[in-house]
Amino acid sequence: MNIILLGPPGAGKGTQSQRLVEHHGMRQLSTGDMLRAAVKAGTPIGLKAKAVMERGELVSDAIVSELIDAELTAMGSDVGAIFDGYPRTAAQVEALDEILARHGRDLDHVIELEVDEDALVERISGRYSCANCGANYHDVFNQPVRNGTCDKCGAHEFKRRPDDNEETVRTRMREYRAKTTPILPGYESRGLVSRVDGMASIKEVTAALDDLLN
Ligand code: AMP
Repeated sequence: MNIILLGPPGAGKGTQSQRLVEHHGMRQLSTGDMLRAAVKAGTPIGLKAKAVMERGELVSDAIVSELIDAELTAMGSDVGAIFDGYPRTAAQVEALDEILARHGRDLDHVIELEVDEDALVERISGRYSCANCGANYHDVFNQPVRNGTCDKCGAHEFKRRPDDNEETVRTRMREYRAKTTPILPGYESRGLVSRVDGMASIKEVTAALDDLLN
């Protein structure tokens, strides 16, 4: 099973991907996470991407497609992939088709998380993750069971993304509307698109996704 999760920043792609990994034994391929790791490690890709990401603009199609190709090469062909935050442009759709064909994989679902844009800034400004294992949390909607302790790994350090500020979020939303929304009709004509109400609770969204995948 290979699925794409689409939706504007703050729609819940990362959180839902983590839950699908647990429920379905799939692997999350987040280009955002890969790029943040590259920035942290100071690799040539990271050095190129850092300023672009801080502005909320899109990194080059070639860079993100290479990252995805490398991840697929490294993982077993029997493990399903959740593409989280990729593809985001028409050129990336083309690249992904070529990459999947080369890896002998078919695309099963393109799922759009539909959300009310006014809620996104509130969602984004409250989110943080575990500095050790990356589990996602939110000040209001998704707190750890024990305050200050990660539910998954027990670590006590958390981090917030530098691009989760209001100005950058607005640019990221503009990029989504201008470059990513236009890729949906192509997938629709291939009969691949399902829409899920991303405004429902985290549990309800997961249940809707589980229904789709089972
Ligand atoms: P995300 O974690 O998916 O919100 O991505 C964070 C940032 O990484 C984005 O604002 C872009 O700057 C960059 N990025 C992540 N995925 C892509 C992609 N598929 N294409 C271009 N840029 C990306």
